[in-house]
Order: sequence, then structure tokens, then C-alpha cells
Amino acid sequence: MSMERTGGCLCGAVRFRAVIENRDYGVCHCKMCQRWTGLALAGIMVQPDKIEIEGQDHVGTYRSSDIAVRCFCTRCGSPMWLCDLNEDGSPKAYELPLGVIDDPSGLTLHHEIFVDRRIDSIALAGDHIQDTEAEYFEKLGFVPQPTEG
Ligand SMILES: [Zn+2]
Ligand SMILES: [Zn+2]
Repeated sequence: MSMERTGGCLCGAVRFRAVIENRDYGVCHCKMCQRWTGLALAGIMVQPDKIEIEGQDHVGTYRSSDIAVRCFCTRCGSPMWLCDLNEDGSPKAYELPLGVIDDPSGLTLHHEIFVDRRIDSIALAGDHIQDTEAEYFEKLGFVPQPTEG
């Protein structure tokens, strides 16, 4: 069952309205997500035609890898979404950090990835999938290039 949620950055310059069709979300502990968010990226997926954005003038972009761009508010620095890209560079899916959603209640932690890189004092409660970097890439059928992560 889908639900509609609004959200925005710390200063309010960037706002969005999104329809969440799948309430299951994942948490990524890769080093890029740690650096970007300060801890880990807990992100809910939204399809590109299910999000309306206000304040595009304040959306900055950082192409963090071949397959994703990370967007943030250029005024207050809040991480707004990670956009997974198709091969032609068009948006494939938006991953919204739970914290920028006005009311992030009612969502379910479905999986954690890169658990072998998780900050060692962090543990998330509940029974859910926990994949290491190797397990995650194996499921994707993807052979990663060696990077810092
Ligand atoms: Zn802002
Ligand atoms: Zn990550």
C-alpha cells in the first residue's frame, strides 16, 4: 500500500512530495554513505515519476560513482537524496534519507548492506537481512573495481 510523504532540508529551501510504494527500506554502511551522512544512509526508494521537488535552484549534485549522484541543499548542506542512474544518466530511482522526510513513521527496516564496514558501535535492532560488501555485490552480479569503498 503506497503512502504520500512530504519532506525537506534543514533550512527549508528544498522541499519534496513523494509517493512511497514500497515501505521497506535499507541502510547502507559503505564509507561513502558514512562520509555523506555522518553515520549511515537509511534510504527509502521512490520512483522518479513519484517525486515532485521544489527549490531545484538550491539542489547541488555530487556524482559519487558511475551509477549514482548524491544531491544536497546548497544553502544548509542537508543530504536530500541519492539518485541511482540508468546507463544513459537518467534517474532510475531516488533514495530519500529517512531523516529528511517530515514523518518517516510506518517504514520497515528490510536490510543492511556493507555490514562489514559498519561503525562498530552501531547496531540496528530487529531481524533483517545483513549483507557484507561481498554478499551485496554477489547478489547484484557486480564485480567492483577496487576503491576506498
Ligand atoms: Zn536547506
Ligand atoms: Zn552506501
